[in-house]
Amino acid sequence: MSTDAVQQPGAESGPEWLRGPRPAELAAALESTEPEAAPAPVTARAVAETAIRALVEVDAAIASLQAMRTQLLAGIGHVAIDDALAERLDPAVGLRDDACEIGLLQRRSDRTVEGELTQSMLQMERWPATIAAWGRASIHRGHVRVIEDIGAPLRDAAERAAFEAALIPQAEQTTPGRLRMLARRELEQYLTEPLAARHAEARTQRDVTVTDLDHGMSMVRGLLPTVLAHGIVDRLTQMARATGADDPRSFAELRADLFADLLLTADPNGAAIAGITALVSVVIPTNVLLGDDQQTGDDAVARLSNGAPIDPETARLLAGRTKLWTRLFTDPLRGHVVAVDSYKPSRRLRALLRARDQHCRWPGCTAKAVRCDIDHTVPWAAEGKTEHGNLAHLCRRHHVLKGAQLSGARRWKVEQVTPGVLAFTSPTGEVYIDQPPQVGPVFGERAPEAAPEPAWGAVVAGAQRVDLPF
Ligand SMILES: [Zn+2]
Repeated sequence: MSTDAVQQPGAESGPEWLRGPRPAELAAALESTEPEAAPAPVTARAVAETAIRALVEVDAAIASLQAMRTQLLAGIGHVAIDDALAERLDPAVGLRDDACEIGLLQRRSDRTVEGELTQSMLQMERWPATIAAWGRASIHRGHVRVIEDIGAPLRDAAERAAFEAALIPQAEQTTPGRLRMLARRELEQYLTEPLAARHAEARTQRDVTVTDLDHGMSMVRGLLPTVLAHGIVDRLTQMARATGADDPRSFAELRADLFADLLLTADPNGAAIAGITALVSVVIPTNVLLGDDQQTGDDAVARLSNGAPIDPETARLLAGRTKLWTRLFTDPLRGHVVAVDSYKPSRRLRALLRARDQHCRWPGCTAKAVRCDIDHTVPWAAEGKTEHGNLAHLCRRHHVLKGAQLSGARRWKVEQVTPGVLAFTSPTGEVYIDQPPQVGPVFGERAPEAAPEPAWGAVVAGAQRVDLPF
């Protein structure tokens, strides 16, 4: 890259913008010059102009390196395929082999690297003149992308060569945005297929994707037919306008909220979160559920199972509202998922519980099981499992009493001594054992008189003390 910088006599090698008078020359110049001709002091503006020239040179170097990287990737890919074919292997296996090697060296996903290898071979094959111009830094990545994107429908090599030959000189003179318009016009000369047919093919690519960003935010992108995409944005704009000026949200915030409300609830009432009934796996650390938002670090952040963080308030709202979350139990040392369970018991488990309990299990209560809630004896939020040994029917009235966040001394404690046998400890310390109704015959060895002494002072028929795993 050349600049307009005036070369100083005696300057040595290095970027042109660095070649100024050196101290010795400067001192000589000061001595021999009349006072009125003293060199101008270095101003901030002069430094900024130097920085601008440096930026242009750095970006040009980056462009050249990016083109070089594409060439390297393509070369690696071709050798990998040739090697695999020579050994009668699937070429894809050869590519994957090198992708894994590169991925591990760079701590990147081998899938990403494999994609880059394939993409680079394709770029080199389809757009050689464009990649060469990129290497000379006469165009940059934005221009390359436009030529590739707009020229993608061209199937014939000669047509592609003519297309890029027409566009590269324009790319050297303008921005990618302008180039895109020129490229579209250029493309029309080569397209024999009518727009309707092209659109029919293009619309098979429609999709909605989500990309997780920082700070508990994500980007939802929809690839849609143009009319629908503009229709969606226009509808959101009109609805946001109609919301009224006294809404404290910004116009952009309103549009985003309406977008979510419409998709999740089909009702733009601002309650999108209530509409989430999809099955989503979430890892919520106990301290987040308990409302401790001050902690930092990896173990204090609620995450979707794909690792995307979600804000603690949303995590708590969802944990309290939905019964469809799946909980992941992770190995504390390695963080691997070792077990999953869901809050909601399976149909089979519900049938078992209904047959076992038949009515509310609160001592003395006879409310029919079909009208009861299924309660986690050890709360789900406290790692209680969704299994028959930790579930029991409680009528709404008793469920609320058990779950009430009364102060320690006034709280009822409920435990399952063995699966199905519940021990209720009252605020005054009285313990009541509630056995499930006897349904089948009782055999000798497990008869009540042979039962061990229970821990809570009442006879527990057929019960064996077990250590609860949580
Ligand atoms: Zn009850």
